[in-house]
Amino acid sequence: FPALTEDPGERVALRFGERSLTYAGLAAAAGAVGRRVAGRERVAVWATPELETAVAVVGVLLAGVAAVPLNPRSGEKELGHILADSAPSLVLAAPGAELPPALAGLERVDVDVRAAAPLPEERAGQEDPALVVYTSGTTGPPKGAVIPRRAVATTLDALADAWQWTGDDVLVQGLPLFHVHGLVLGILGPLRRGGSVRHLGRFGTEGVARELSGGATMLFGVPTMYHRIAEALPGDPALAKALAGARLLVSGSAALPVHDHERIAAATGRRVIERYGMTETLMNTSVRADGEARAGTVGVPLPGVELRLVEEDGTALTAYDGETVGEIQVRGPNLFTEYLNRPDATAAAFTADGYFRTGDMAVRDPDGYVRIVGRKATDLIKSGGYKIGAGEIENALLEHPGVREAAVTGEPDADLGERIVAWIVPADPQSPPGAEELAEHVARRLAPHKRPRAVRLLDALPRNDMGKIMKRALPHG
Ligand code: ATP
Ligand code: MG
Repeated sequence: FPALTEDPGERVALRFGERSLTYAGLAAAAGAVGRRVAGRERVAVWATPELETAVAVVGVLLAGVAAVPLNPRSGEKELGHILADSAPSLVLAAPGAELPPALAGLERVDVDVRAAAPLPEERAGQEDPALVVYTSGTTGPPKGAVIPRRAVATTLDALADAWQWTGDDVLVQGLPLFHVHGLVLGILGPLRRGGSVRHLGRFGTEGVARELSGGATMLFGVPTMYHRIAEALPGDPALAKALAGARLLVSGSAALPVHDHERIAAATGRRVIERYGMTETLMNTSVRADGEARAGTVGVPLPGVELRLVEEDGTALTAYDGETVGEIQVRGPNLFTEYLNRPDATAAAFTADGYFRTGDMAVRDPDGYVRIVGRKATDLIKSGGYKIGAGEIENALLEHPGVREAAVTGEPDADLGERIVAWIVPADPQSPPGAEELAEHVARRLAPHKRPRAVRLLDALPRNDMGKIMKRALPHG
């Protein structure tokens, strides 16, 4: 972080609610953390959405130690698994934070944001781990991805170039800080370019409107946040005005429904940029700040990222037709090193020529834009001889006024192989749309073979802390 080590000044680096730190204050407080953890291999950070978490992670990184951010909303079982797997030698936490019993045996160090010590000598190399981040657990138990310092630096620089990120940018976000989105992009990103972060603590559209009309230039969020924005816009002209004035609106971590993208564009004149990344690869694709943000796509590979689509028989596509589906495989300086304690999973994740198998399926438009079809494991339905992506059916369902939320899965079917099932949260539980009506709606928009054969109503879809739909937690999904 050149802005911290060379020229710590009186510019504001971080603001969480009423509390903020200048670059000089951050350098001093991070220095104190760094002294406290120097010489350790891995330390845990109790990652509440507070100033202390950001200071802790910066201090740990500057000391050349690896940080393991813990989700404060994890259950005892998940926490136990992560602690046993990562074996941190202490836990950093905000003073007063209540730690659950799973952490009781661990040395605790409170982070003092007003402490001051010189920054430690930087001794770590580029291939040394910066972070061990546990994947979201969408498809199985979370795996600890070991992310080297090189991957953090190259991803942030590639994004900063693409998004023309400068020291004048002020980012507003309300993301959790135990994942790469909120932590690496949303905290370390601005700090790397000498910019500033305002964290909302808890996401809300009022906070977004307030910050964007009060000097913030960029907004990062997950699709559930943009959905709330899309819902609020018709009744909130101040929010529309604030978003219209932003330099950059960026969505990631899951697919942004086309319906929400279009509603935001219509109300604000701004198109949300979608980027695609993963814990293991940090960022793979995005759109340049001066490029075209196309609804339903995640842009193009970032500089340095080699991305290919590989068909089931192992051949890589050489031309793009917007139709042929392949698995996304990536290679480049953005990749993680390994899954902690999982040599078998690590070996299985890479091809012989060093590409990471993302498990995500996609097509590419003729000009290279990537459209994610879904995850190989849960989103690709083989029905009646067709391979059908759940995402486009979900997008079509969400355009029906009676549908608030939608998830599509495949179920075994004697006749079709798999049949398409739509899980729906109705806009009005008193009068949900009928199965026949939704099937016709989808058949009209897409194609008859893509219509759902069964519709199941739910009060809410199962989602994780990032707002991702957990299809494996659906009653029979
Ligand atoms: P686990 O690996 O434990 O099952 P996870 O894959 O959800 O969980 P993350 O690394 O947090 O854990 O998420 C990465 C995944 O999120 C990607 O592989 C992809 O499926 C999805 N994703 C991320 N960004 C986008 C996007 N813009 N559009 C569609 N999907 C996305
Ligand atoms: Mg994953």
